[in-house]
Amino acid sequence: MTDSHSEFSSDVETHADSPGQDTDDAFGYYAAGAPIVDSKAPGGPIAERWSTRKFEARLVNPANRRKLSVIIVGTGLAGASAAATLGEAGYVVKSFCYQDSPRRAHSIAAQGGINAAKNYKEDGDSVHRLFYDTVKGGDYRSRESNVYRLAEVSVNIIDQCVAQGVPFAREYGGLLDNRSFGGVQVSRTFYARGQTGQQLLIGAYQALERQVAAGTVTTYTRHEMLEIIVAEGKARGIVARDMVTGEIQTHLADVVVLASGGYGNVFYLSTNAMGSNVTAAWRAHRKGAYMANPCYTQIHPTCIPVTGTHQSKLTLMSESLRNDGRIWVPKNKADCEKDPRDIPEEDRDYYLERIYPSFGNLVPRDIASRAAKYQCDDGRGVGPAVDGVRRGVYLDFADAIARLGRDTVEEKYGNLFDMYARITGEDPYEVPMRIYPAVHYVMGGLWVDYDLQSTIPGLYVTGEANFSDHGANRLGASALMQGLADGYFVLPHTIRDYLAEGPFEKIDESHPAVVEARRSVQERIAHFLSTNGTRSVDSYHRELGNIMWEYCGMERTEDGLKKAIDLIRTLTDDFWRNVKVLGTNESLNQSLEKAGRVADFLELGELMCIDALNRRESCGGHFRGESQTEDGEALRHDDQFAYVAAWEFVDGDAERAMGTPILHKEDLVYTAIEMKQRSYK
Ligand SMILES: Cc1cc2nc3c(=O)[nH]c(=O)nc-3n(C[C@H](O)[C@H](O)[C@H](O)COP(=O)(O)OP(=O)(O)OC[C@H]3O[C@@H](n4cnc5c(N)ncnc54)[C@H](O)[C@@H]3O)c2cc1C
Repeated sequence: MTDSHSEFSSDVETHADSPGQDTDDAFGYYAAGAPIVDSKAPGGPIAERWSTRKFEARLVNPANRRKLSVIIVGTGLAGASAAATLGEAGYVVKSFCYQDSPRRAHSIAAQGGINAAKNYKEDGDSVHRLFYDTVKGGDYRSRESNVYRLAEVSVNIIDQCVAQGVPFAREYGGLLDNRSFGGVQVSRTFYARGQTGQQLLIGAYQALERQVAAGTVTTYTRHEMLEIIVAEGKARGIVARDMVTGEIQTHLADVVVLASGGYGNVFYLSTNAMGSNVTAAWRAHRKGAYMANPCYTQIHPTCIPVTGTHQSKLTLMSESLRNDGRIWVPKNKADCEKDPRDIPEEDRDYYLERIYPSFGNLVPRDIASRAAKYQCDDGRGVGPAVDGVRRGVYLDFADAIARLGRDTVEEKYGNLFDMYARITGEDPYEVPMRIYPAVHYVMGGLWVDYDLQSTIPGLYVTGEANFSDHGANRLGASALMQGLADGYFVLPHTIRDYLAEGPFEKIDESHPAVVEARRSVQERIAHFLSTNGTRSVDSYHRELGNIMWEYCGMERTEDGLKKAIDLIRTLTDDFWRNVKVLGTNESLNQSLEKAGRVADFLELGELMCIDALNRRESCGGHFRGESQTEDGEALRHDDQFAYVAAWEFVDGDAERAMGTPILHKEDLVYTAIEMKQRSYK
């Protein structure tokens, strides 16, 4: 292993090095930087790489661990599992979250399940098949070494969680049950009814609290990290705001881990928890951590449709429902207003089963989402029209109820059906559900090497906050797997290699890096509270979300993305001059909290559009209108775009403006798998 990050040079090569004005849609929007030549993955056979890395990683003896400190931002599955494991190992851990309890992290919302290559069903599963499915599902835009490791440790996760008492569903004989998720033909998804995330998080939380009781972990709830401290080129701490008192605090450590979740709320409407945001990651990005593939967004096909402009949140209906539910629209536009139960079988179009006979209703999310959009664009959507278009398709359980009986369906999906009934006022046992795609997950995130270390030495990133494993499209039930793999099994090995360099030089509040970080936090807060403009923070967020959904959503085009960038720049400028934040810093102030998050979303939104503009190919969830096959499927261009786009932040001329970002490319090389055009037909 090399121990320096010197290859992360910010040297900007001349733009002539990248495609020219005629061939590069994003010409003029970015500068080309040096490529990333080493992701730190060991060589050798893919099945041995992780063992090699674990063996090579230096050890820290137990007595020294007590002298080394770790800050972990985030208590979702990725953060809680890491804090519990590192606490158990004996390090001094500080764990942060902005909720009132670690147990309220967004992970608790996860419904459907968690993948693992246990092959309990004896249906042909294996570590290699999970690896293959994940790389293929991600449309060959992920790093193969990372994905293989994920598949390899997946089996340990289930054992760990069962040992913690997580109540996974079981079959009659007592073995753990499995179901199928999209993009695969085996059953490898472990689940706890429709509450898998909640049960897994309770397991991780118990392990975390055990360490709190043991004195190795200290938790800081209602604390929001607003800045990272980088001293002598290394991550050494954070500046956090106590959200109840407004106190600005400095927390120092030897290493910092961000497990701060995803940024889907840049679209305003999404299935994410209302509080999910990009601030922790974006503050690190501004200080030197590259942001990778920011435009890769997952739009989930089975969500409750938007009903109007009053909404601030969308609700997911778990993908597990596609195991037994059948998706259809009326064949005839004239039937779209009819009661679906009055539409005879021959007048229904089970379009996924028709177009993709091998995978049927279990095609991956990106494909199912686009197919639903096409049906609705074609005028065959159902449900109430919003802005003149009916955006809904049926998810029908009539067949399943007839085949399995209502009791079995209720046992499997009861809480999801209840949730649907409460939100829509319709009984899904009687009338087919209506669903439509919604923003759900981001595959993009902070760039990390094989060790999960960012381009800032000493800053590690885990879970949804990093970009590492899912390429351009994540398969269902793989986010929980990745978060727990990172926290329980990967990070504890790789971070010790870094900590073995300790003890690190002590720094205190007088260090210039700390002074500067605190100053910038205080100035931002003072600015928001003194601007006294005319528009609410939410109105800016909603407008940004509309721009992102319209131009950087399910289909992206060169013209649309350029328009979006102009619109976002104008909106950002207005935001800084005209936002109105009520209240004070010295109390609970949600308007102030949101202002900081929306400021970061605005910059992220611009970068997402630049990233999408640069990638003139379609892959996974990134669908460029200019790059599709004759039958409307995503068309990749491996000769030009088989790379991770890692963006370096550049300051603008004013403190509150982004400069021209620098693009560093990490080539994706596949040795254990052949790149193919995806087909689920
Ligand atoms: C409705 C829904 C259902 C899902 N179902 C599934 C499923 O069935 N299977 C699956 O695999 N995936 C599922 N996913 C995806 C999965 O839930 C998430 O990707 C995953 O839980 C993210 O975990 P995480 O630990 O990375 O982040 P999170 O759980 O989002 O946790 C983020 C943590 O960071 C903290 N934080 C963030 N910023 C700051 C800051 N600035 N300061 C302090 N603390 C901060 C938060 O307080 C929180 O503790 C689902 C997602 C949604 C939206």
